[in-house]
Amino acid sequence: MDNKLMLMIPGPTPIPEAALLAMAKHPMGHRSSEFDAIFAECTENLKWLHQTKSDVLSLTVSGTGAMEAGIINFLSPGDRVLVGNNGKFGERWGEVAQAYGLNAEIITAEWGQPLDPEKFREKLEADTDKKIKAVIITHSETSTGVLNDLETINRHVKAHGEALIMVDAVTSLGAANVPMDEWGIDVIASGSQKAYMIPPGLGFVAVSPKAWEAYKTAKLPKFYLDLGKYRKDAAKNTTPFTPPVNMFFGLQVTLQMMKAEGLENVFARHQRLMKITHAAVKALGLGLLAADGAGSPAITAVVPPAQVDAQKVRSLMKKRFDIALADGQDHLKGKIFRIGHLGFVCDRDILAAISSLETVLKELGYEDFNSGAGIAAAAQILSGS
Ligand SMILES: *Cc1c(COP(=O)(O)O)cnc(C)c1O
Repeated sequence: MDNKLMLMIPGPTPIPEAALLAMAKHPMGHRSSEFDAIFAECTENLKWLHQTKSDVLSLTVSGTGAMEAGIINFLSPGDRVLVGNNGKFGERWGEVAQAYGLNAEIITAEWGQPLDPEKFREKLEADTDKKIKAVIITHSETSTGVLNDLETINRHVKAHGEALIMVDAVTSLGAANVPMDEWGIDVIASGSQKAYMIPPGLGFVAVSPKAWEAYKTAKLPKFYLDLGKYRKDAAKNTTPFTPPVNMFFGLQVTLQMMKAEGLENVFARHQRLMKITHAAVKALGLGLLAADGAGSPAITAVVPPAQVDAQKVRSLMKKRFDIALADGQDHLKGKIFRIGHLGFVCDRDILAAISSLETVLKELGYEDFNSGAGIAAAAQILSGS
């Protein structure tokens, strides 16, 4: 049957029909008062989503562009920064820092393990002459399905007093609690194709007053990604360059949906989807890459037993059930598969994915579980017992 694709990858994520329909229109002029009104509403609701009174800026970029903007607007060549790296995305922010001539010190953890906040505390406490200008962290490390302990790492950054904290929240914002103002986070980057439930193409950067202070003296080169321009124009409900106006039609709808569901309920739904997935994976005798208690509410990385070929699982899931799962990245390519449960995903979707997975595993000759074990484990979580 055509057109039943179920995207269970960590972006792009499924899109609600109401948002698809909203985008299926002729664009309007981006300097029109009609567009200004939509942009203004989106900006207000973006602030609600970020739990901030400060600025949330919309850029026409993917998530990487948003994060790069978040890094380069507040720093100068040679600045010392600490970068957490426990997966593909953490590694990327280290590369961005190096590309811009920052003096980046990388704090690593093995893929599947969360970053150790103590390592940040030690570096920050030792820095008595306050040379560390920023700490750069990936909150939900999508490559491994690990949620890093942002709250604790951030507390150590606050104790340092000087350094900014810059967060890749691309798969945590809208899935896990990231209270920007309450925690005092300086920069939060995210992207439209994740929890926002719209296609790829928009990036968002939230900026604290403290980061704007640093902006005044920051000397890294920038033009298209100069956030000062976006801030100035956002005050007039507009953007410095042509925005993807149809994307805003969709964003308007999905932000309204999130508000109607309520932030707590959005987080609780993602938490539940993660718990269901973890329980089912274990019940099927498969492994989780993420260490116990460090799972991301957005995505689960699954390590199959040696006799099960992860690539075959993915290709059969696609062929038989039209369910797209994600591959591993880098050295985990072909060795694991990842189940995205981010954005427009409900309990029914995850049940469908689990029962399909059981069927596929049996078809591939893997029999080390009782039929229905995954669904039984899922049902147990759903019934709250
Ligand atoms: C998807 C993702 C990004 C952004 O990737 P783009 O391809 O640039 O949109 C950044 N960080 C994390 C953790 C992600 O999952």
